[in-house]
Amino acid sequence: MSGPPRVEILVTQPFQQNTLLVALADSDRCIVLDPGFGPQKIIAAIEKRGWTPEAILLTHGHIDHIAGNEGLRQRWPEIPILIGTGDAPMLTDAKLNLSAPYGMELVSPPADRLLSEGEKLTVAGLEFEVRLIPGHSPGHIVYVYHAAEPKFVLGGDVLFQGSIGRTDFPGGSQQLLVDGIRKKLFTLPNDTVVFPGHGDPTTVGEERETNPFCGSRA
Ligand SMILES: [Zn+2]
Repeated sequence: MSGPPRVEILVTQPFQQNTLLVALADSDRCIVLDPGFGPQKIIAAIEKRGWTPEAILLTHGHIDHIAGNEGLRQRWPEIPILIGTGDAPMLTDAKLNLSAPYGMELVSPPADRLLSEGEKLTVAGLEFEVRLIPGHSPGHIVYVYHAAEPKFVLGGDVLFQGSIGRTDFPGGSQQLLVDGIRKKLFTLPNDTVVFPGHGDPTTVGEERETNPFCGSRA
């Protein structure tokens, strides 16, 4: 083992969305999670590190998490786009991905690979387990990385520090979201780090203890 993977957080505007770059410590291959608005900033960050992106992994299909797909594709035409099966239609539908309601009408290239609950995925030397946690969006998935101490989760808009994802969008359900967090995140070790789609990283233990929506005292 060569140390834990590096996780770089890039915040893009206007929704303060976190785009993540993840690479093994001894590798110049990376994945890009949820490329947001302003792909030039993301491309520049990857190039500055001398990394080669091997895939775009998406947690869900809302526009602030997919807006950069097209720009990354123009820079790296071969890069595949991966998303959970349930959210795949949002990529190419401006109503479903919420860009049209926000007055933007943006779409992404379609998915190259669809992911399902329990699937194991290896890309850029990183092995992730896919877990489906609907409620913020119908097909929202998270990526669990087990081969590090502590483990970590690329979590999208499921669980935030002291909060959870919005459930007032079409297809949303707070009950499904809370149930999914409890079954599929809170069963991970306490020190598991959760990298959310907005705001600072947190841990499973901290949220199980204190989160007002899904924690033990909720
Ligand atoms: Zn979202």
